[in-house]
Amino acid sequence: MTDYAPAHTVEDFRRNLATVQARIDAAAQAAGRDPVGVRLLPVSKTVEVDRLRNAVTAGCTWFGENKVQEAKRKHAELSAVETIRSAHDAPGAGVKWSVIGHLQTNKAKDVASIADEFQALDSLRIAEALDRRLQLLGRGLDVFVQVNTSGEESKFGLPPGEVPAFIRELAPLSSLRVRGLMTLAALSSDTDRVRGCFTLLRDLRDRVRDDDPELLGPGELSMGMSGDFELAIAEGSTCVRVGQAVFGARATPDTHYWPN
Ligand SMILES: *Cc1c(COP(=O)(O)O)cnc(C)c1O
Repeated sequence: MTDYAPAHTVEDFRRNLATVQARIDAAAQAAGRDPVGVRLLPVSKTVEVDRLRNAVTAGCTWFGENKVQEAKRKHAELSAVETIRSAHDAPGAGVKWSVIGHLQTNKAKDVASIADEFQALDSLRIAEALDRRLQLLGRGLDVFVQVNTSGEESKFGLPPGEVPAFIRELAPLSSLRVRGLMTLAALSSDTDRVRGCFTLLRDLRDRVRDDDPELLGPGELSMGMSGDFELAIAEGSTCVRVGQAVFGARATPDTHYWPN
């Protein structure tokens, strides 16, 4: 896939966002679902703040970032404008950040202070570190538990079999609001294999919910990226994390984010 149209200007972003949204709507309708039930999370990794301002003007209110450092820097750069101009005409002020990549314990502090959502929770140590910081700050945080549905070593996330027990262990950590499950499908041209990852996540969600409806909150499914979001929507995705189809092709290879 190299045909992702790059977006720099506000007009570029309006066009790409409209195209992606139309594809989301069509995929939802084809699956007999209400498109309102699928949220588009624009993934802005490697894209600099001058372009993000244009994306905000075009209607983006959330950005997903894989690396905490990068999220922290952009959060600061976008909020800096707020102090100079009124929040009204400062594109970027009031934007929300979703951290969607694997976290080291020493970065929990940064996520607790800048993120509005964390989608890659896969260890109790991280959960406890986040909860400690959040309690100090008096904040809550929406979290998704990341599941390794592809069985690939390179992918982060818990093995599916460990998820039910893990979610029960999160219950006492009161600053963490569990919203559902997240996964990265296999990077494969074999549609059945990709679909298998998505159905596995959905079945797991259903199973956890059957056992205890309280544990998974609304039971969201964050699955689907630029290359596979229509398939993910067909299998029940409620949040698609789309980078390249919104911002244009990325030079940084994916192995930088989920190393082999
Ligand atoms: C980069 C990234 C995405 C988006 O990938 P695209 O191919 O740019 O759509 C989704 N999820 C995670 C965890 C990512 O790091």
